[in-house]
Amino acid sequence: MLSAKSYAAFDASTPLGPYELSRRDPGPKDVVIDIHFCGICHTDIHFTQNDLGFSRYPLVPGHEIAGLVENVGADVTKFKVGDRVGVGCMVNSCRTCANCGEGLEQYCPTGIYTYGGDDRDGTITQGGYSTKVVVDQDFVLNIPASIPLDAAAPLLCAGITTYSPLRQWNVKPGTRVAVIGLGGLGHMAVKLAAAMGAVVTVISTSDKKREDAQRLGATGFIISKNEEEMKAAANSFDLILNTVSAATEINSHIALLARDGTMVMLGVVAEPMPVVSLPLIFGRRRLAGSLIGGIAETQEMLDFCGEHGIASDIEVISADQINVAYGRMMKSDVRYRFVIDIKTME
Ligand SMILES: [Zn+2]
Ligand SMILES: [Zn+2]
Repeated sequence: MLSAKSYAAFDASTPLGPYELSRRDPGPKDVVIDIHFCGICHTDIHFTQNDLGFSRYPLVPGHEIAGLVENVGADVTKFKVGDRVGVGCMVNSCRTCANCGEGLEQYCPTGIYTYGGDDRDGTITQGGYSTKVVVDQDFVLNIPASIPLDAAAPLLCAGITTYSPLRQWNVKPGTRVAVIGLGGLGHMAVKLAAAMGAVVTVISTSDKKREDAQRLGATGFIISKNEEEMKAAANSFDLILNTVSAATEINSHIALLARDGTMVMLGVVAEPMPVVSLPLIFGRRRLAGSLIGGIAETQEMLDFCGEHGIASDIEVISADQINVAYGRMMKSDVRYRFVIDIKTME
């Protein structure tokens, strides 16, 4: 076994703290990754607090992993020691179901998530707030040389979570895209949609992020509490990405879709949200969901970011600041992603 330092949640209510972890010895197709950085995703907070009801402790969160290959198993062909690599939300899948066959491993019924998942060896997977991780080569991604490792980490979840629906709903030059919420997911959605040539509008609860929205590539900005602005924007978007990770009123936002437009839910929200049918019926609008992206698409997203000079806007923190960062995220006080410098755990 390989020993690794980590930060773990030990129950749903106490702060995360240091935890000594064992990783499996690398099998023939495994890659051992020396983790340099790990982003903090809102899902990490949901899991540490057991908001979804199936967390198991101790729990090491983190599925925005970036680092260097430290060692490879005998049959690894895709990576060598020293390669710049990333791991996102999944570390394995069945490889035989229809979803896996279509490169949609994220919808595999027995896919294994990076933390809190049942691994093939009977252990529970542990995430990237950790100095090392051992992952099958098929679930390891190449990080382009042009993207710094710290700013690349959030691409592994926030990046692919927003890239995949932009591709699935055929965003092209001129597509009218709105992004609800300018946070970790939202700021990536704006950058990626703008790079695809879309006309991008940010919908926010206040004026505070107007300048940032512009800097990131948005040309429109709507304050959702302003009824006149909302009324003026009715029927005007082909696609709305809803990135908010809290229960909010969505019906007034669905009314902003053009005919046949789609709102895609991306933020994990444990509570139900009421949906009124009328705005969907009048306009043949759609309400949809989307979960991260497949492995091939994740590599495509990383290569796209490399070509277009896109990375996440980050605030790097030391490991002992994780709980402070969680507190600030609950108040949306981060521009736009916290990334843990994992070397501060050593
Ligand atoms: Zn995430
Ligand atoms: Zn499968």
